[in-house]
Amino acid sequence: MPNEIIAILAATTSAVLGNISAFILTHKIKNKIQFHRLNVLENCEIIAPPKLSSQNFSLVDYPESLGEYRQEVMHFVETLQKNLTEDQLTRTYNNIKNLRIDENALLHLYRICGLYRASNNTITMSTQKVNLPFGIKLYFFSDIDKSLMSYHELFHMASTTYKGDEYFMGFSQRNIGDGINEGYTDLLVARYFSNYSKNIGYKLEANFASLTEQIIGQEKMTDAYFKSDLLTLITELENYTDREKARQYLSDLDIVTAFRRKQFLLTDSDKSKLLESYNKIKVILYEAYSKKLDKELSNNNLTAAEYSKCMNSFIESLSKYDYLIVKDMKKLNTSQNSVAVTQNSQKHR
Ligand SMILES: [Zn+2]
Repeated sequence: MPNEIIAILAATTSAVLGNISAFILTHKIKNKIQFHRLNVLENCEIIAPPKLSSQNFSLVDYPESLGEYRQEVMHFVETLQKNLTEDQLTRTYNNIKNLRIDENALLHLYRICGLYRASNNTITMSTQKVNLPFGIKLYFFSDIDKSLMSYHELFHMASTTYKGDEYFMGFSQRNIGDGINEGYTDLLVARYFSNYSKNIGYKLEANFASLTEQIIGQEKMTDAYFKSDLLTLITELENYTDREKARQYLSDLDIVTAFRRKQFLLTDSDKSKLLESYNKIKVILYEAYSKKLDKELSNNNLTAAEYSKCMNSFIESLSKYDYLIVKDMKKLNTSQNSVAVTQNSQKHR
């Protein structure tokens, strides 16, 4: 398809210019899977992940297959050890012992910068540079982007569990949770590796993940992520909304993520769905957070002044990335995009 060719050319050009923002240009292959998955959202049952017994881990457990990424992986694990409990590190220790990291230049053609494949516990990174004659090196992306990409994929590794052929990756399982999972993964990259916080790719999803964290609490959300436990996330959200709305929120975020990955291949119909899902997410989160604050106010855990301060800040954050959606609406085929994003989230009230 001509549009696809244009997309690949544009992506390759931006790569050569060193302008790859790590994960915005992600997952063309995953994108196709994602659209298949969106059709079956209605039928999906969210299930508890398998439990893992605690693991011992020491320096000898870093496998040879890490190659030149060994230092990066060691830094990643040491950082996690400073921030998490041993219980939360069980999946990291379990998976890292046979983790493989390789590189594949062809990923550029698919606009993929990094990929974690749970089925064979392998991270494949896009080749960073090509050696040309006369000692000339052509860089496809910077060292900062390379580290950022490997940390993002390592978080996927650190939060993945298997049960037979089925895998549970952070907040993603079966056919739901991809959006919140990518967002929370980038939120953790920004939190634990702050040098890279400006470069994360799933900014919009990370913002919604952060707002979700404000609703259920950081400790519970981090614990659920590293235990691959979407069911607990939903159960916690049920304290402030009903299960149907919690599921709807996750599905709508999956839709936003899937459509935003299509970049300028979005049709006008895609744009309408994207905008609709984006606005529904904001309403559900707003209602859940209001309920949380109402509870805290009635339990005297919050003064009226604190209530308005928290609420105003939450409302402001809900609309923080409206401009990205506005941009998506303007990409090609713009004849029908007279639909406007609700710029002022006060209107949700
Ligand atoms: Zn990812």
